[in-house]
Amino acid sequence: MSAPRRIAVIPGDGIGHEVIPAGLAVLTRAAESGGFPLAFEHFDWGCEHYRRTGRMMAADALDRLADFDAIYLGAIGAPDVPDHVSIWEMVLPIRQRFDQYVNLRPMKLLPGVTGPLAGRGPADVDMICVRENSEGEYSGIGCLDADGAREEAIFTRRGIERIVRYAFELAARRPRRLLASATKSNALRHSMVLWDEVVEQVARDFPQVSWRKYHVDALAARMVTAPQGLDVIVGSNLFGDILTDLGAAISGSLGLAPGANLNPERLHPSMFEPIHGSAPDIAGQGIANPIGAVWAGALMLDHLGAPEAARRIEHAIAAVLADGDVRTPDLGGHATTADMTRALAARLP
Ligand code: NAD
Ligand code: MN
Repeated sequence: MSAPRRIAVIPGDGIGHEVIPAGLAVLTRAAESGGFPLAFEHFDWGCEHYRRTGRMMAADALDRLADFDAIYLGAIGAPDVPDHVSIWEMVLPIRQRFDQYVNLRPMKLLPGVTGPLAGRGPADVDMICVRENSEGEYSGIGCLDADGAREEAIFTRRGIERIVRYAFELAARRPRRLLASATKSNALRHSMVLWDEVVEQVARDFPQVSWRKYHVDALAARMVTAPQGLDVIVGSNLFGDILTDLGAAISGSLGLAPGANLNPERLHPSMFEPIHGSAPDIAGQGIANPIGAVWAGALMLDHLGAPEAARRIEHAIAAVLADGDVRTPDLGGHATTADMTRALAARLP
């Protein structure tokens, strides 16, 4: 056996405490049966830590996280802590400090799941979003005073170039080789004009990829009316955030959707999380769907160099959903998080 990969585990808040243990159970089993040991270290950071100490994370948290091979995050947020505090003192600093500039989010309707789009099946909904994750609308720069607020979006040529290149490279490796760029260069006459210009330039290096740009509002409509024509979608931080909740919804449930925050150069740890939040409306009931977290764990194993273990987990997810016997309430059933976790583990060799 090789030396264990060191994973920092941050369950966070709400259903993070339910889906992360489920993810760890499935991950451990898949990784160890493949001779790929994982060593987990838990951190109790999040809103409870904030209530106790006035900080979401320890003061030296980012320095400590820097030493890990990857970060496995549940969800952050609680009703009594302002969301901009919890997100800005934790999720966004981690993404920025570790230059996790790619947020990769598959959006796939799996067999056995009933999506909300009438007449659409798994062949129609199979997309992946490449979201810019380090700048753009989430720069944090601005001000708020009695007269109003101002929020600045920062788009650097380098920042756009690297995310767009990543997206084209991904599209070139996928069977359909399609790329849609989400823009809004009609109304956002500085940033999105630059975005479009960079996309045009990078596209010249990928003649094998057919691409086009869509204004983001039209693209949102298209994801609903004609998802079968979409494959890779590249978008800014805000656009990607919004489009991927839509993508998760048309894939059957927000509870199924995984996300990877990647530093592709591997200079820093990458972070893996379900895309959903802490779901205070169902937290504590033991009914959260753990599949988004489990699938995010598979993306982590893939990134760490255990693609076989990752595929085993993805097959287990597909098999349990195709079976249809075990469904959490978000999928229309009555199964608990624990039932689903057991069913997934039972599908691993
Ligand atoms: P949410 O994703 O927590 O919940 C939206 C809806 O989806 C809720 O009805 C919830 O019950 C349902 N849902 C989400 N995950 C589910 C799962 N695994 N199984 C079953 N149902 C699930 O979004 P929200 O309600 O807008 O936000 C709640 C809190 O989470 C807020 O504090 C928000 O800031 C935070 N949040 C954090 C992150 C993050 O940590 N990256 C992301 C999004 C939202
Ligand atoms: Mn989001």
